Amino acid sequence: MSSPGSADGERAAVGSSLACPSFRCEPGAVLLGIVGRDQKVGYIRPELRIDESFVSRASSGRSPEKRFRFAGPCVEGRCRQWTGEGCGVIKEVLASSASSCERLPACVLRPHCRWYAQEGTAACRVCPLVLTDGTDEELGSG
Ligand code: SF4
Repeated sequence: MSSPGSADGERAAVGSSLACPSFRCEPGAVLLGIVGRDQKVGYIRPELRIDESFVSRASSGRSPEKRFRFAGPCVEGRCRQWTGEGCGVIKEVLASSASSCERLPACVLRPHCRWYAQEGTAACRVCPLVLTDGTDEELGSG
């Protein structure tokens, strides 16, 4: 599968295939962004990979996937979000999102991003609104 706007140096930073922009907090993942008070993701440049120490610290509070966005390898058919043709997450977000951002985020992942490869700039305009873990911890803990 091709990836638009490829830059070999940047592509090599994540791997040879497309990357999932809503990945788990685990060592080796890219720290894609930080969720701000406005619940929008602020993207991090240059690319930053997390290690065991980051994961350990980030996991001591609220779910790290509520506070950060991570990127890692897209495993396609081995992911439960895979529809058979693409990532179901971004399709669902695009179908349900009432708003989008005017400007494209300055995002390091674009050359190899699964969502961008699949949906183009439309994905980038809703991407800052996506929380990997959107569950309510209070409701979920009872
Ligand atoms: S959808 Fe766009 S903004 Fe979001 S991670 Fe992919 S390239 Fe970056």
